[in-house]
Amino acid sequence: MLGDHIDIVTLLICTFLATAVVAIFLTLIWLRDRTAFAVGVWCLALWTGVVSCMLLGLRAIGPEWLSIGIGNALAILAYAILWAGFKAFDGSRAHPVVFLAGPVIWLVCYFGLSFHDDANARVVLASLSVSAYSLLVAVDVYSARHREALPCRPIITSFFALHGLVYFLRIPFAIMMPLDARNVMNFPVWFSIFNLELFVSTIVIVVSVLALTLERAQHRYRILSFTDELTGISNRRSFTEKVEALLMRPNTVGALMILDIDHFKRINDTWGHIAGDRVLKRFAEIVTLLVEQNVLFGRIGGEEFALFLPNAGVLRGLALGETLRREVEGMAMDYEGHRVDISVSVGVSCVGQVGTDFDRLHKAADCALYEAKRSGRNAVRVFSEDMLLRSCMEYPPTMELKLRPV
Ligand code: GH3
Ligand code: MG
Ligand code: MG
Repeated sequence: MLGDHIDIVTLLICTFLATAVVAIFLTLIWLRDRTAFAVGVWCLALWTGVVSCMLLGLRAIGPEWLSIGIGNALAILAYAILWAGFKAFDGSRAHPVVFLAGPVIWLVCYFGLSFHDDANARVVLASLSVSAYSLLVAVDVYSARHREALPCRPIITSFFALHGLVYFLRIPFAIMMPLDARNVMNFPVWFSIFNLELFVSTIVIVVSVLALTLERAQHRYRILSFTDELTGISNRRSFTEKVEALLMRPNTVGALMILDIDHFKRINDTWGHIAGDRVLKRFAEIVTLLVEQNVLFGRIGGEEFALFLPNAGVLRGLALGETLRREVEGMAMDYEGHRVDISVSVGVSCVGQVGTDFDRLHKAADCALYEAKRSGRNAVRVFSEDMLLRSCMEYPPTMELKLRPV
């Protein structure tokens, strides 16, 4: 049987070596970026585990109080620190009482209540603690899934839940098939198999923390690459991609609006760039508040923004444009005690007029925007053929804009 071929001390030495190697790697990763607090805590957990494995592996030659008493206390502490690391990863703190409960109860029972004489009571106590910390990790990783949806969360939750349950199973085995209290080196088969599970789990634990760390970094870079730094809304690339994806759906209708703040250069020239930045931020906030959830909003240039209204036609585009224009007109901003007035011009085009090609829609909305500016600014204009006739823009032959028969 498998258990007959597993030597516990060899297994502990392997666990010690494997934990030491991964602890070195994780420490090197942490040293490169010490701002990652959770990774630092996980390193501490691994190094505590390394010392614990070393002590437990010395059970044949070292004093029992050190090998078993301190070795197990450190093993439980390693799990408590690991749990604290997962808490830190999701921005919260481990409760100090829960954190200390496992190692302290172990020390009290081992040195104060004569658990050193009862191998099975020790298995029950250690298993309860490790199982509890593993289940706490599973619960915490699962609870944070809405705040930060990382793909590996469900896998890590399942792993820790399973590891906690397997560890808990040691208890019925210790009761039904007790360890030999007279000979600490005479292990039953189940004990060897559970220690093999611990060895494999140590590797999985490290893979889990590495996966979480890498996925968070990727997730953040992805968000950054799609977000406008100043206003926090979609940037040009993200907005264009989202609108193009909608336009590719069959029978799509919708309206594109381009909003350009009037005489923005004057605001910069009069009040400075910082005031200009504040205006851009405030403008983005106001528009975000006024548009419905399904409307796409992005900053496509310096003081140029765009909205895409799915399932909307000319009339809805015009109505929203007017609402926004009026709101912006009335949003006088205070900058260092001075009143800064702004206005916006809006150009609207829609799929019903020019089709589902994004570039055509954009050019048509731009053309309408140009008309709004020409008419004196602080105005909303919907694209029409007359605008083309007035040759408001120069269209390259391939981008010729034609009205679609409706
Ligand atoms: P118009 O009414 O014709 O649109 O005139 P305008 O002054 O708004 O347009 P123009 O294109 O002449 O100037 C836009 C200015 O926006 C120029 C540029 O310095 C400024 N700008 C672009 N990006 C930013 C930014 O991120 N922050 C600030 N403060 N200014 C910016
Ligand atoms: Mg402008
Ligand atoms: Mg502009």
